[in-house]
Amino acid sequence: MSNPTSEDRKAPEITEGGHPSESEPSTGISRRDLLKSAAALGVTAAVVGPGRSATAAVVSNPQIAAIGPTYDGSILRFVNGNIHTMDDARSVVNTVTIQNGHFTSVGNQGGPGGGPGVVTVNLRGATVIPGLIESHTHFVSLANRPGHHVAELELAKNIADVQGFLAARRAVGDIPEGEFITAMGGWNSNAQWDERRLPTLEELDEAVPDRPVFLFERFSGPAAVNTLGKDFFDGVTDPTVAVNADGSITGADARAALYHLRIRQTFEDKLRSTRDAMAFTAKLGITSLLDQTLVAVDDDPQPTHFLANLNHYRMYDAWLELHRRSETFVRLQINFLHNQAFIPALGPDLADQLPELRDRLKNQFQFFGDAMLRTGAIGEWAAPFSRPDQNADNYAVWYEAQRLVAQAGWRNENSEGAPEDIEFVVSAYEDMENEFGISHLRWGLQHGDFATPDQLARLGELNVSISTSGFRWQNTDEDPRPSSDPVGPLFPQLMESGLHVGLHEDGVHIAPHNAFYAMHYATTGLNARGVQVNPGQQISRDQALFAYTRENAWYMNREDDLGSIEVGKRADILVLDRDYFTVSDSSMRDTLPAMTVVDGEIVHEA
Ligand SMILES: [Zn+2]
Repeated sequence: MSNPTSEDRKAPEITEGGHPSESEPSTGISRRDLLKSAAALGVTAAVVGPGRSATAAVVSNPQIAAIGPTYDGSILRFVNGNIHTMDDARSVVNTVTIQNGHFTSVGNQGGPGGGPGVVTVNLRGATVIPGLIESHTHFVSLANRPGHHVAELELAKNIADVQGFLAARRAVGDIPEGEFITAMGGWNSNAQWDERRLPTLEELDEAVPDRPVFLFERFSGPAAVNTLGKDFFDGVTDPTVAVNADGSITGADARAALYHLRIRQTFEDKLRSTRDAMAFTAKLGITSLLDQTLVAVDDDPQPTHFLANLNHYRMYDAWLELHRRSETFVRLQINFLHNQAFIPALGPDLADQLPELRDRLKNQFQFFGDAMLRTGAIGEWAAPFSRPDQNADNYAVWYEAQRLVAQAGWRNENSEGAPEDIEFVVSAYEDMENEFGISHLRWGLQHGDFATPDQLARLGELNVSISTSGFRWQNTDEDPRPSSDPVGPLFPQLMESGLHVGLHEDGVHIAPHNAFYAMHYATTGLNARGVQVNPGQQISRDQALFAYTRENAWYMNREDDLGSIEVGKRADILVLDRDYFTVSDSSMRDTLPAMTVVDGEIVHEA
């Protein structure tokens, strides 16, 4: 019921060369044929042209690198589409051309056409939208996961699906004996899977009997292993890890198990995980990422660390290395989070507090880099928020952090959802406007889910934009619900405020990465069990998609080159496997790209 009909899912057909007919490409080369041969060689994910010279998994087939370029002056042309440009007029056109990574024409130009140096994709009526932009994720954490990581578990609906994804990863045939298949963070077994629990040791053995398997849920576990995984952890020391007979690992032992996998990770392993993470986001259609760090630490892995604890000076190394090799194929903007509250050892003088934030502001550039990788600013917070009635010292440090960021002329963010907390944020921002002037810096508020109309109006005066929580579908209420209150966000109130309001999933620890889950929730209010948990707070599919494209582009300060299909903008598009705008709600939630294009390169094809 959730799958599109066969009529909906006609695959786009790709032809190359000068033949004008859509039926017989003159060269006889089709990308689909090349993909088939690539699959036989174990290439699992993406196709990338010379502009980005790698695939997600392996680049052993030179034919793959030889097709689909647009940076060599050739043209990628999409015809016969239902192309939703998301421009101001919400134009829907049938043809778009791409050259040198940018849209060069957008309009209604009829049939396929072609010519030398033209690769034509006949969309056969498929729906096309701009690449999705995620304005609040912790994606670099996904790129650092140890093991051969299977992010697809967030797409599972039951344990049979989980087993299927794990078995499919093993079936690729590239995992050396003794190396782990892992899946950590993002998925929520209680909210998402019919059985509302982790798989047992026996169930994981059924899926993968001959490689160790390790699952780790959200920030801190619990974890689950198969027999080979149990054998491994039964043998480790310093610290030891207690594995229960059913394969579960709970409490501090789950974090200790994570530690043992992390300390065995090589840099090559991290390069592979980074490529896999990029392939996964391309598969979901999220082509630009604003990373929000999270609970950064400044040391090597420790047995006490949670999944979200990573060394915030070293966690980008693999991504940076791939970027140096021109092998990144999704866009990353890096925000810096600083998590230092009041430190008693530094004494009572505020001037001695916040050492890391002070160093960051002195030694880093904001919004520096290129179209594929660049820094952002401070987010999702400069210091942990605390109300004065909760902890006066921490509040003073938090307030001082706002001052330091404003004084440096940087963009800043905070993450609060409740009106009583948002009030402190709005008041502090108003103070910063008065003391330093911040309205030209485009500060942000993450979540903001229950902001009042008064607070929204005051934020508007300060040119503050919001990125709101699309992940509350993970609520686990049964029908009938214990309360009739909406769990938020109050989407219509936010959208009617006149502020720029983006939408996010806040993956990849507490929530999945998939943006269609958030857009389904924003438009239906249904949790993953189909229960209405946000009554009266729905928005339209157009509004949800606008938030995930145009508004998130604004949130990233990239509205001039991303977010819509318009001549001159960077060419990021998704060819969808169904019509997002017209399919049923349950089908819309399962939307995936049939093809993903980033910077004019086809980086994923289903
Ligand atoms: Zn977050």
